[in-house]
Amino acid sequence: MSTNTVGAVRDAFKRMAEVDAGPTGLNCILWTDEERALADAAAADSVAAPGALAGVAFVAKDNIATTHLQTTCGSRILEGYVSPYEATVITRLRDAGAVLVGKTNCDEFAMGSSNEYSAWGPVLNPVDRTRVPGGSSGGSAATVAAGIVRISLGSETGGSVRQPASYCGIVGVKPTYGRVSRFGLVAFASSLDQVGVFGATVDDAARALEVIAGRDPLDATSADCPVDRYRSAATADLQGIVIGRPREYFPSSLDPRVAQRCEAALESLRARGAEVRDVSLPHTELAIPVYYIIAPAEASSNLARFDGVRYGLRIPADGLREMYEATRTRGFGPEVTRRILLGTYVLSAGYYDAYYKKAQEVRTLIAQDFREVFESGVHLLFTPTTPTPAFEFGAKSDPYEMYLNDIFTATANLAGVPAISVPIGDIDGLPIGGQLIARHFDEQTMFRGAYALEAARAEAK
Ligand code: GLN
Repeated sequence: MSTNTVGAVRDAFKRMAEVDAGPTGLNCILWTDEERALADAAAADSVAAPGALAGVAFVAKDNIATTHLQTTCGSRILEGYVSPYEATVITRLRDAGAVLVGKTNCDEFAMGSSNEYSAWGPVLNPVDRTRVPGGSSGGSAATVAAGIVRISLGSETGGSVRQPASYCGIVGVKPTYGRVSRFGLVAFASSLDQVGVFGATVDDAARALEVIAGRDPLDATSADCPVDRYRSAATADLQGIVIGRPREYFPSSLDPRVAQRCEAALESLRARGAEVRDVSLPHTELAIPVYYIIAPAEASSNLARFDGVRYGLRIPADGLREMYEATRTRGFGPEVTRRILLGTYVLSAGYYDAYYKKAQEVRTLIAQDFREVFESGVHLLFTPTTPTPAFEFGAKSDPYEMYLNDIFTATANLAGVPAISVPIGDIDGLPIGGQLIARHFDEQTMFRGAYALEAARAEAK
């Protein structure tokens, strides 16, 4: 069997030159090495037994470690930093025959929902260049939406794959916590972080997840849990599947056009044999305050390592303390600084019990909501992925407004359950995604629902 990985890589670079480069480009890809990518592709094409992803070109978010391209996390503090080791997810995709063609732009250290917080400038939404692509993995989403590649890697802490997938009209998956190795993923909030995948279609995402999922001896938090053949979940019917419609995700304040697209999607799932049931996840409204205590708390600790001594930027100064201060002040952008300050505050003596400990307790309640609803016989939950389609640049200058964007996505990270965003329609030409949330490690049923949702939409068109 012959594969044409060289052709796929050439096409990717051609498309990149058309849409991404220059002052009017999308700005989704930060670092590339075309010669190296072509050499990797030639090597992939010459193996006797082509891998599962032969012929595939992919990109990865700039917070996933690569040994021949920089890993800056969209931050000045890591400008020029090249990792001495490669992330397991990259190694697995390459071992399956796929070729890395670039590292993608993102909000600094994956903190953000619009890609406006990258030190390397914003990414434009390929569907409408006056709009944000979402974030923080906006570059990875835009690269797929612009047709440069069909598969890309992002990271998820509170919705950073699903939300940009919704805004760019593609598929985005956050796997179960522990499903995918995080070896080589730069840590933001370790109790929430997961590598996620984008696909042009559900099948593209399933193909990629099949390859990267599974236990990795290099990551003690990766679970030793069998990986299903997700692509076998492609089936026309949903007989026997119970889908919960959580009322807290359909508040009366929800944009009626979003609600209408969701109801139509639910109807299409029902038409394929699923039973749709109204359910309740009563602690949903607490997810944003809880997330924005826990994530900054963990970030303030994880980002302490960027001190000018071991990695990237160093601003020389008279004393060690002065050097730390100068480097971190210059190296981190305003949102990252805000998170470190917030996180340090909620962890400090005197405030720990009132904020951090309380948030952990409420997180348990949020996880319990999911457990109870799944134990009641519900297989999947269906919700909007985002409250609105992509917004305009500068529309959310108040950080709290930006944080509210994660209202429907952060819950799955807090509970550790898998979730996928699939395009379900357009609003004034802007795409919008529907979200399916499944039980822990049941990506198989999640994909089954996603394939059905996608097929129903294709038929309706
Ligand atoms: N928007 C969220 C945040 O800013 C989620 C980020 C993410 O998932 N990495 O923290």
